[in-house]
Amino acid sequence: MLNVKFDLPPFTEADAAALARELYGLDARVTPLPGEKDRNFLLTSARREKFVLKIANSGAARETLELENAAMERLAAQGVEGVPRVVPALDGGAIASAYDHFARLLTYLPGRLWAEVNPQTPEMRESLGALLGAVDRALATFDHPAARREIKWDLARASWIRDYLSHIEGGARRGIVERRLEQFEREIQPRLACLRRSVIHNDANDYNLVVDGAAVGLIDFGDMVHTHTVSELAVACAYAMLDKPDPLAAAAEVVRAYHREYPLQEAELELLFPLIALRLAVSAANSAYQKTAAPENEYLLISERPVWALLERFESISPEFAHYTFRAACGLPAAPRAAQVVGWLRGHAGEIGRVVEPDLREAVVIDWSAGSLELGNPSEYEDTARLTRAIRARMDEAGAQAAIGRYDEPRPLYAGAAYRMPANDGCEWRTVHIGLDIFVEPGSPVFAPLDGTVHSFADNAAQYDYGPCIVLEHQPAPGLRFWTLYGHLTVESLDGLYEGKPVRKGERIASIGNYPANGNWPPHLHLQIVTDMLGYKGDYPGSCRPSQRDVWLSLSPDANLIAQAAPGRLASNALTAEQIAGRRRASLGYNLSLSYRKPLHIVRGYRQWLFDAWGQRYLDAVNNVPHVGHCHPKVVRAGQRQMAVLNTNTRYLHENIVRYAERLCATLPEPLRVCFFVNSGSEANELALRLARAHTRRKEIMVLAGAYHGNTTGAIDVSPYKYNHKGGGGAPQWVRELPMPDPYRNQFGCDVRHAIAVLARRPASFLSEPILSCGGQVIPPAGYFREVYALVRGAGGVCIADEVQTGFGRVGSHFWAFQMHGVVPDIVTMGKPAGNGHPLGIVVTTPAIAASFNNGLEYFNTFGGNPVSCAIGLAVLDVIEEEGLQQNALETGSRLLAGLRGLMREHPIIGDVRGAGLFLGFELVRDRGTLEPAAAEAAYLVNRLKDHGILLSTDGPLENVVKIKPPLCFTAADADYLVDTLDRVLREDVLRK
Ligand code: PMP
Repeated sequence: MLNVKFDLPPFTEADAAALARELYGLDARVTPLPGEKDRNFLLTSARREKFVLKIANSGAARETLELENAAMERLAAQGVEGVPRVVPALDGGAIASAYDHFARLLTYLPGRLWAEVNPQTPEMRESLGALLGAVDRALATFDHPAARREIKWDLARASWIRDYLSHIEGGARRGIVERRLEQFEREIQPRLACLRRSVIHNDANDYNLVVDGAAVGLIDFGDMVHTHTVSELAVACAYAMLDKPDPLAAAAEVVRAYHREYPLQEAELELLFPLIALRLAVSAANSAYQKTAAPENEYLLISERPVWALLERFESISPEFAHYTFRAACGLPAAPRAAQVVGWLRGHAGEIGRVVEPDLREAVVIDWSAGSLELGNPSEYEDTARLTRAIRARMDEAGAQAAIGRYDEPRPLYAGAAYRMPANDGCEWRTVHIGLDIFVEPGSPVFAPLDGTVHSFADNAAQYDYGPCIVLEHQPAPGLRFWTLYGHLTVESLDGLYEGKPVRKGERIASIGNYPANGNWPPHLHLQIVTDMLGYKGDYPGSCRPSQRDVWLSLSPDANLIAQAAPGRLASNALTAEQIAGRRRASLGYNLSLSYRKPLHIVRGYRQWLFDAWGQRYLDAVNNVPHVGHCHPKVVRAGQRQMAVLNTNTRYLHENIVRYAERLCATLPEPLRVCFFVNSGSEANELALRLARAHTRRKEIMVLAGAYHGNTTGAIDVSPYKYNHKGGGGAPQWVRELPMPDPYRNQFGCDVRHAIAVLARRPASFLSEPILSCGGQVIPPAGYFREVYALVRGAGGVCIADEVQTGFGRVGSHFWAFQMHGVVPDIVTMGKPAGNGHPLGIVVTTPAIAASFNNGLEYFNTFGGNPVSCAIGLAVLDVIEEEGLQQNALETGSRLLAGLRGLMREHPIIGDVRGAGLFLGFELVRDRGTLEPAAAEAAYLVNRLKDHGILLSTDGPLENVVKIKPPLCFTAADADYLVDTLDRVLREDVLRK
């Protein structure tokens, strides 16, 4: 059955041009195209229309070409887009003669081959599924005598590979293919008879698909055959799954879209996974044979690698689970028996016995959801004693004998290494709990709620596993079977058990275990219902990844059907991301923006991580406000303790404000010794302008182009980033704008002579950030500030340094970024990091300026300098010191900078890398010569990094700078992970043009 070699017809480009003219009346430019069986040429007409001239090899039967043409004509008649159209010759025929070969002309589908697209996206897979659904729907009633043929790629005839198994090197690999074949012959072939049959394309492989944006096109109809319709999808899935960390997810995307276009039947879905495996087996056997026939052909080796990798991967995928995944993708109940089990349990609720002694209707509910306010921070999740005490306290408070942990609850507890799963982009954690937790006294009894037998048991002793676990099997009615699982038991509970051991309803089957032997959890029973064991014994997943939630909730329905705790108490009233988005639109200001194409719903933060409502973890590489780490326990405690005692204004004496003022001043050079407390960076700049004006009795302010200094009226007036932007009102007449001193893009602005040119006649002040942040992470060149400060002071003005972004050790080498430039400002403004997320801003100035401001008008700020804010500010300074965070900014920042510079050598799109400490940025350009900004690419990059679980943002006047400014507890490992992930994403097509 194997016909390996085709002699491609010996036609040249000149021949093709002549044929195009003679047969089709086309004057065309000719470019050769690849082809396995036909000699193919791309023809481009004078009117830029594109066609493919196909000259069939001498073995091709006219009838087969007629089949292909007829199918393509049918697809055209049915309006199916994404397939070539047949173009008739001048004589009207669809097949012309070219010497002793047949020639055909087809329209050309633009795009790139699927195999060469990076990344292959879920959208592409959906387009593929939809296209094949449309093709198969259109061909459902199509037939042609030539389609009734025997070809090696007809999956129904896969048995031919038996004779070629010996060509497969390696016993293990041979075994895999052999088993897939045996399974086909034993289990699948007999069931094929009940599947729909039709003529299918049969070869939607990654070299027969062209991708143009989101659209997918299908070419090469040379393997068409009349066979089981679902084989079409099996072939496509096999290739869409290649090299995918989560192949089932990839296949499910194809299946979902196919089904929407052309509904699949349940019997087809049952056989889909084995047919995909079979296609891979056929492909592997075929290339093994071809390799022996052409051992020098390296291409064969390359193309078979991913096929083998996937075949080997399939060995650890449960075929039932794959089947259920495909059912769920089609909107069917994933586990076919689940509804029957749930129906029975509902209908027989009164007959179900208790599983623990206490009455669970009185149990309190423990909220372990991602945003739970009662669950501590992730450093406490490993402290089992602490978790246990917290649960006990809740029970005592409510006078309850038991507590319940919810079913279908996404938990940040599981966002650790033990629960990490590869996803097609980045990774996903198995965070959704699919059992019910029942917290009761350790050692207390567990009862069988129904008659059954022991299905299996094991001590799953690993940390955060079940510890001792028992699975019971129940068959309460004919044809009805399900299982119940009991995890975290005592080791003794397993004594005397054997598989098949009968148990009676109400019988004590086990005791509640204690930590650490129970998997090191607070003492509780994990109760779970299972409608299909998927081959597991003594174990079963107790949580699932959010992307597979519908499948697992069907495999494990709500265990409260057995536990029967009060459903009202278990309900959660948390809003979904969609609800929040809708309500934001209705009740919040319209020009609030959200980050990312698909906004994040963040409910928890800790150190350098943020957690979304699904409990998924993101590495925060952009938020510099949580300076010492999100929700730093020391900072949180400082605020909580002070808030519980006193929070009031500065008209009373309180020690916090003076302690904090002194600590801050100690970080600053003389003569910066006088503090004013405010509540934000904007307010700090606003006050700084008043100080400068009071001192100089002048109004004019000089600023740097691209700068941002805040959202208040006065701050907007001095922010070119805003007033020059769409919707902005332009610079007020008292504002002088200096060109941006950007050594990469604007050498002109770096020359201080231009500062002289715009020097205000009577400047009150020069206001600037030591490193421009919104301006694009720009460090003005050495000496720049020294010269400008001298000029401004020479003209009678004062200098304000806006350290809202850059202060508190972030730049690594110094505590304040102005120190990098060897200058001492007259006024320093501080915000964002000062309170680690608590609204706290400060202005520090000289005694002379403070004296000028003291002109009889009282300065009062209701919230500024309150005891809580100052307690928090002090705690932040403590943590920076105690944890050596400035030093970490220096070391981790240098490591990151070196990594980014390495990426710049590798990836031409990175035009510049810059910054200091953990205040970094890199600029994307389409051309390193013209510096054409790559803003769309930067937005793409940031969204892709988010797909991989890393948060970054873009900024700069051209929106092409990617900013990196993580919490200062960012580690070397985080830096490496960021660089590695950037490297991977920078290889994607959008960023490589
Ligand atoms: N100055 C600079 C340099 C800033 O980046 C910002 C905020 N992005 C502000 C001032 C204003 O701070 P806030 O938003 O706290 O008012």
